[in-house]
Amino acid sequence: MTETVLTHYIDGNWLAEWSGPVNELRNPATGHATGKVALAGETEVEAAVAAARRAFEKWSSIEVAERVDLFERIVLQMQARAEDLAAAVTLDMGMPLAGSRIAVGAAILQFSSLLDALPNYAFRETVGDHIIQKDAIGVAALVPPWNYPALQMAEKVAPALAAGCTVILKPAEITSHAGVVFAEIMDAAGTPAGVFNLLVGKGSTVGTLLSRHPGVDMVAFTGSTDVGIQVQKDAADTVKRVSQELGGKSAHIILSDADLDLAVSTAVQGVMNNSGQTCAAPTRTLVPAALKEDFLNRVTAAVETLRIGDPTTEVDLGSVANQTQWNTVQSYIQIGLEEGATLVTGGLGRPDGVDQSGWFARPTVFADVTNDMRIAREEIFGPVMSVISYESVDEAIRIANDNDYGLAGYVTGSDSTAAIAVASRMRAGQVIVNSVTPNLFAPFGGYKKSGNGRIWGTAGLEEYLETKAIVGTP
Ligand code: NAP
Ligand code: MG
Repeated sequence: MTETVLTHYIDGNWLAEWSGPVNELRNPATGHATGKVALAGETEVEAAVAAARRAFEKWSSIEVAERVDLFERIVLQMQARAEDLAAAVTLDMGMPLAGSRIAVGAAILQFSSLLDALPNYAFRETVGDHIIQKDAIGVAALVPPWNYPALQMAEKVAPALAAGCTVILKPAEITSHAGVVFAEIMDAAGTPAGVFNLLVGKGSTVGTLLSRHPGVDMVAFTGSTDVGIQVQKDAADTVKRVSQELGGKSAHIILSDADLDLAVSTAVQGVMNNSGQTCAAPTRTLVPAALKEDFLNRVTAAVETLRIGDPTTEVDLGSVANQTQWNTVQSYIQIGLEEGATLVTGGLGRPDGVDQSGWFARPTVFADVTNDMRIAREEIFGPVMSVISYESVDEAIRIANDNDYGLAGYVTGSDSTAAIAVASRMRAGQVIVNSVTPNLFAPFGGYKKSGNGRIWGTAGLEEYLETKAIVGTP
């Protein structure tokens, strides 16, 4: 993929010319150049919005069966290109290839699950004395982040197209290779011209232009809370819908009857997978004080056996996504040390035995963290676990809910009735009991500053729909 210029896909065509500058992309695990990306500007945004608007009337009114046909072709193309997509993700942001493959599988599920759900969804139904009709909201701008790019592109594109929207996808700039492979898949599947458009470039320009554009009816944004707030402000004048999936600082409550092996594997995998670059990561680990020592010993042993290195090989952790992310992780480890948390394992700098030109961070565990410390309150988005001890379950729930974020929650405990009772009191959009894996068929999204939207399942589809009531008929 070296030295290709990645470009925009608008109205069924790849643009051979572009108005703006070209940027170099780098492999975060090696520092090597991997290609160039054309940065979209106003010209491309206008062309993409015009194409999506032209295509909207037809796409929003075709039979559901035709949308299902397209989804069948997309699933086949995604399966055929799965390895290319996974490789692009790893090249772009340093996720171990095995993880990229799993995420591509989850991306395919976003389309395949709608094959069954779409024909059964009530786009029109009679309720009492009136008709409720669900209409596509219009042209949707889709702005995912870089941390699970294949899944995050699919979890927006699939429900939006299923609803009858036409879309403009703007992947995070560093994931432009993955964005282009995704667009190649949509093209090869025979997506009608203008229904799916790709703009590559920078969020600060393309994202802003799309958020403000009167021809865009909705922005579906996933990313940091700060940028999400900016998107809302940019969108306000046009009163478009903004669906936000934002940051997190999720709590994992380990109950005193928990299977400690399960608690440890949930804590370690949940925090360390993808080098901690997971919005739903359980980065605040709440442990009964009586179990603290045992838990920390086991966590340390588990963390110290994690294999870190070249993400194209069999490792548990690759690099973090870029230098900015690495610097952020380092600064938070420093903050944790200065705040007086106890460094249990890991710490500053790169691990031994990795390519020192890559942005590899050390899996790090802090104990004796209190919930007022910055490493307990702020999203680090790196492989850093903050362990907080508690005395009573009520105290654990209070600590869990005492945070600006409310994306995910985790409870590990052997009495499932008690564990579910704790889960039901957590202020978070998806609470995972005795597991580390979110459920892709259930709604997922944030309370509080973690956002206002929902993805996955029927709830994800409904984000892209308007509700119309038809009343007064005899
Ligand atoms: P980010 O910096 O907020 O960027 C997210 C996306 O927005 C990227 O495509 C980015 O493009 C674009 N963007 C940047 N500035 C913009 C602007 N002014 N207007 C419109 N778009 C703009 O987030 P990130 O660093 O990519 O991702 C990490 C964050 O995402 C974390 O906070 C994480 O918790 C959150 N996240 C949340 C969820 C969830 O479901 N709630 C899932 C995953 C991640 P460029 O990259 O090209 O600048
Ligand atoms: Mg960013």
